[in-house]
Amino acid sequence: MTSEHEMNRRRFIMESTCLTCGCAAAFVAGTHQFDLLPQASAQSRRSRGKDNPLATEPAFCGLFCGACSGLQESVRSGTVKCYGCRSNQVVGHCKTCKVRECAKSKQVHTCGLCESYPCDKIKEYHNDETEESNKKMAVARKVSEDFQYFGNDPDWVEKQIERWSCKKCGTVFEYGNVKCPKCSAPIITAAMEAAVYARRKTPVFTDFDGRSWQTNLAYATETKTLGGRKALLLQGSERTIVFLSPSNFRNGTIECDIAVRNSGGLAFRAAEDGSAAELVQLRFLNTKADKNKKLILYSPHGDWRSSWRELRSKEPGKYDVETKMAKDKWFRLKLVVAGKKLDVYLDKDTEPVLTVAEMLGKRDAGCVGLYGENARFANFTMQPES
Ligand code: SF4
Ligand code: SF4
Ligand SMILES: [Zn+2]
Repeated sequence: MTSEHEMNRRRFIMESTCLTCGCAAAFVAGTHQFDLLPQASAQSRRSRGKDNPLATEPAFCGLFCGACSGLQESVRSGTVKCYGCRSNQVVGHCKTCKVRECAKSKQVHTCGLCESYPCDKIKEYHNDETEESNKKMAVARKVSEDFQYFGNDPDWVEKQIERWSCKKCGTVFEYGNVKCPKCSAPIITAAMEAAVYARRKTPVFTDFDGRSWQTNLAYATETKTLGGRKALLLQGSERTIVFLSPSNFRNGTIECDIAVRNSGGLAFRAAEDGSAAELVQLRFLNTKADKNKKLILYSPHGDWRSSWRELRSKEPGKYDVETKMAKDKWFRLKLVVAGKKLDVYLDKDTEPVLTVAEMLGKRDAGCVGLYGENARFANFTMQPES
């Protein structure tokens, strides 16, 4: 090991402890430093991600430093020039990044959790798609928005390592790669993902069940057939909502057949830009704490302080319930909304599976919407109370 390398390593230990945890520093001080480009099993990738200070937190702007070419080049060359956005040694644009400067001074964990998000600084940065390589910023924007809407995700790093690893050989790849740099297997590129999150300047309308649904997310909707039912498929972004517009739903009944792969549900009393809504969703969880759980969750969409994760950790069982449903299988979801009270019914049940006595959203009326990430919808009906 060169003395320069050793010096950099020591500097990183000093710098990283203020922003990352003590065990991260201990890991660097061991024998595994800078081992970020493994050809390894998913299990070993996961444990490495957890302990590796170079990839333990999101960058302030929502990028994942582990998939950044600057950091990967550092790792490859063995002379570390960048220790990640949260350290004091970065490369290229990151040296003068205004977002990083601001987030550090405000001591926010990541911009998506900042009270001022989305401020002009971060908006300008996220919307910079002048170059093909900047497609990654659309992906970063989605990450920031997820933090804003859903709160902190303890499994974020693990998911990012999984996302940016070749499915065939396990090699971690970069935002700019178009195939696996080691085995040339096809990968989901940043540009592909960005295309899913792209916004249309004007909304598109999709006809479904005799109604016209509105969205400004490109590629969000598609009409497909599943199990003999002609269905509307919502794919891509976790925040995809298509709205029935105009609609001024206040109280009444909303029903739909739903088949979910990741998450899906019904929104109501929503703002037309999707910034706020009452939301009921079915979600499959598969984290360490929640292995193979299938939940029905209520949350006021658009407020991460009351995201389903926050509500569930503070008051488990008050806004959520476990169910026994299977992925991609149809079930009927029915919501009965009366003032602040919400009853959720499944299939032919006569008793509600979940009752929320006091909903938390601030809107009395608004649009009805379908919400989902890889979810299908069919046979939509609603009966507003006059
Ligand atoms: S662009 Fe700014 S916020 Fe994003 S990784 Fe670089 S320094 Fe961090
Ligand atoms: S004000 Fe903007 S740039 Fe600064 S931390 Fe908040 S969201 Fe990030
Ligand atoms: Zn590969």
